[in-house]
Amino acid sequence: MTQKILILQGDGIGPEIVAEAVKVLHWLVGEGLDIEFDIGLIGGSAYDASGHPLPEETLQQARAADAVLLGAVGGPQYESLERSLRPEQGLLGLRSELKLFSNLRPAILYPQLAEASTLKPEVVAGLDIMIVRELTGGIYFGQPRGVRTLENGEKEGFNTLVYRESEIERIGRSAFEIARQRGKRLCSVDKANVLEVTELWRQVMTRLGAEYPDVELSHMYVDNAAMQLVREPKQFDVMVTGNMFGDILSDAAAMLTGSIGMLPSASLDANGKGMYEPIHGSAPDIAGQGIANPLATILSVAMMLRYSLCEAGCAGRVEAAVGKVLDRGLRTPDIATEGQATVNTADMGDAVVDALAEEN
Ligand code: NAD
Repeated sequence: MTQKILILQGDGIGPEIVAEAVKVLHWLVGEGLDIEFDIGLIGGSAYDASGHPLPEETLQQARAADAVLLGAVGGPQYESLERSLRPEQGLLGLRSELKLFSNLRPAILYPQLAEASTLKPEVVAGLDIMIVRELTGGIYFGQPRGVRTLENGEKEGFNTLVYRESEIERIGRSAFEIARQRGKRLCSVDKANVLEVTELWRQVMTRLGAEYPDVELSHMYVDNAAMQLVREPKQFDVMVTGNMFGDILSDAAAMLTGSIGMLPSASLDANGKGMYEPIHGSAPDIAGQGIANPLATILSVAMMLRYSLCEAGCAGRVEAAVGKVLDRGLRTPDIATEGQATVNTADMGDAVVDALAEEN
């Protein structure tokens, strides 16, 4: 059955990097991949065209699609808009409307780029971790929340860390399934020694573990997990955790790799439908210059093939092609070491397509 991909270029470097990812998809279509494209507007460009960062039409297109590929949104020209009209609200709106509760953030460091990390190359070269973060619950959404004034006049801020069994089970299943497709090791991160809600988290994960005997489940307190990520990150395969812990750990893990232009991400719903995007933003400082690194977006396509389109073979080919262009020394300026020759955005996209074609 033909699967439908919605392409949302967004703002800044969005159109430049998405164009290269679409080149890769077109090449795969030529090889028999059965997909069709739809194109929509989001973020600042949607605001410019329609007065809203997430037009109703885009929402309908996204609901009708099997997967969404997004560039990035935002730009200084939109910063003075009222909050509900800012580009980022388009993105947040789409995530919540599509109920994308499972956020997959890989931290991959291609051995060829080990010098880009702030850690020693031997600690990070070949790093390949997947952090699965719960995205629509936990302390970022829990009620009650606010700032109140106490009887003595002092102010008190409060938020609520709350997870239902069903929410934990849902993200747990998502993580176990992903671990099954990778190295079959899952580390659940909590603070069960202090927080009752994460004691429940650990119980549910343990219960679920019995249903996935082929996946080795371990548990780790979040403070230790933070420490282990910088001490010996290659010990991890898949990590699963709640919204706030995941927010912090996934940023730390991404920075282990030192190259923001290389990292893809996915946000999935309960049926595997997903939105795929690079972790970086719209980079207004380099927009329009044709020098942005398109590899994070191309690797987002690989994730889309693997997690929404059930095309693991194609996903592997795209990832291998990216490895090959790096082996050959092709570098956009963000991943080049001093004095190294660089290529532009379109050349990098073409090189990935050429590397794909060579495999045939
Ligand atoms: P950014 O990620 O856009 O840029 C940070 C730095 O990394 C910049 O120097 C930029 O040039 C560089 N960079 C980013 N992507 C690159 C790439 N593919 N190739 C080469 N260099 C790259 O973060 P920022 O500057 O803090 O934010 C810029 C805008 O993006 C803001 O409006 C912000 O709100 C928005 N933003 C959007 C998203 C998203 O769409 N998911 C995420 C983060 C930030």
